[in-house]
Amino acid sequence: MHQCKICETWIYCDNLKHVCPPKWKVWDEEIDYELDIYAIDEEEAVTKFAEEWDQDDHSLLQGDHVVVTVKSSEGVETKWKATGEAEPTYYATKIFATETKEDK
Ligand SMILES: [Zn+2]
Repeated sequence: MHQCKICETWIYCDNLKHVCPPKWKVWDEEIDYELDIYAIDEEEAVTKFAEEWDQDDHSLLQGDHVVVTVKSSEGVETKWKATGEAEPTYYATKIFATETKEDK
């Protein structure tokens, strides 16, 4: 398995010829933040942008949203609103009697 140096997609089989998805320009005018993103469509480009944008404070996961413009390689611009949602994950670890004794 290797990663495409251009679009960063993970390629599982070396025999298959990889074709990069289209490149989109996505930006947030308010904070002057722009990224070139490889994605199958505009929606995927916006969600990838939102993931990058949200890395520091995770405000999108707390109900905030961001308005961005997406530009295709043909120069067509569309506006999108992006937000996020964090899915809770629960874990269970069995505690054996011997471990309980050691803890005390
Ligand atoms: Zn690629």
